[in-house]
Amino acid sequence: MRAIALEKASGRPVLKDDHPEPVLHAPDQLLIRVLQVGICGTDRAIVRGEGGEPPPGDGYLVLGHEMLGEVVSAGNAAAADYEPGDLVVCTVRRSCGQPECPTCAHGESDMCYTGKYVERGIFHAHGYMTSRIVESTEYTVKLPEELRPFGVLMEPTTVVEKAILESVLVQHRLDWVRSLDDSSAIARDWRFVRRALVAGAGPIGMMAAFLLRHHDVETHVTDVVPEDGYKASLVNSIGARYWNVSKTPAAEIPSQVGNIDLIVEATGIAPVAYELLNALGVNGVLVFTGVPGDRGGEFQLQGGHLMRQQVLWNQIVMGSVNANRSYFVQAVKDLSEISRKWPDALARVITGHHPLEDYEVALTTQPKDEVKAVFDIPDV
Ligand SMILES: [Zn+2]
Ligand SMILES: [Zn+2]
Repeated sequence: MRAIALEKASGRPVLKDDHPEPVLHAPDQLLIRVLQVGICGTDRAIVRGEGGEPPPGDGYLVLGHEMLGEVVSAGNAAAADYEPGDLVVCTVRRSCGQPECPTCAHGESDMCYTGKYVERGIFHAHGYMTSRIVESTEYTVKLPEELRPFGVLMEPTTVVEKAILESVLVQHRLDWVRSLDDSSAIARDWRFVRRALVAGAGPIGMMAAFLLRHHDVETHVTDVVPEDGYKASLVNSIGARYWNVSKTPAAEIPSQVGNIDLIVEATGIAPVAYELLNALGVNGVLVFTGVPGDRGGEFQLQGGHLMRQQVLWNQIVMGSVNANRSYFVQAVKDLSEISRKWPDALARVITGHHPLEDYEVALTTQPKDEVKAVFDIPDV
């Protein structure tokens, strides 16, 4: 079977044709044909040699963690809920299985305490850039047929679902937010976010903007691309406002628009990320989602000023990574509604389709107007 992989010995991406065919070996498993896999900054970082580790004993790692697939067959237990042809998406991270980890035992591997988790396509487990995979229903969600053109955007959507919903939970420290709560297990009330800023118009930033606008939040998106370009027009088409920070620094935006309750950082560039503290409002939450690697290095901050502001304005800065299955379930609902509300804009998020043979160029270069490029996986 064909697969795009990173070869451990050479450190190079390769297109394999002898990746073993997967087989069902437990009743709760599904055999899934992969339809599309999104190309992500994490995949490109792995190809650059930053992170990524094959399954123990294997000489290569099949890449890809943002998949859309179709059920081929189901084990006895899985067959109660799934049938051939069902559209599905699998999550990325798998439980560490350690007895001392209460979060993994509770289905929250995204909050794992031990760090001994496994991530498909990233760490100690093969990913999805191949024709067929086997996965447990515990790590699979079913999608409605209407999401077929957009399902590959599910995984990046779940990352921002988690980042924003965690911010919502944090804001339950405010009585007026708590009074709006319906006391469900994870509160889904976004009303405290009256005005948000999203830094970075890549796939994570773009999906954050879609989610925020879907929840009627006044949304501002910053990047360094031109105001008359592709990304800016996409941002503006869903009623968010695009700002080119090389002309208007993020710190100047609140004086023009008002208090910023939530900032979603999606740049992965540390000096840019911390500079956002200068735009964060009273009682605001700044959530980092970018993983910077070595970019940024050392930089200077107005530490006294920022610490004083953080205390006097009750500000919170936090990080958020990955997403467990509950966020995938929420993202199915939100992405379905978004696809009905803005089908054309959502289609424009997918900016490129590649055959597997494009693996080298697609994994090492990023076109200027790319938001999300995908591999179309052939059924061979
Ligand atoms: Zn990704
Ligand atoms: Zn764990």
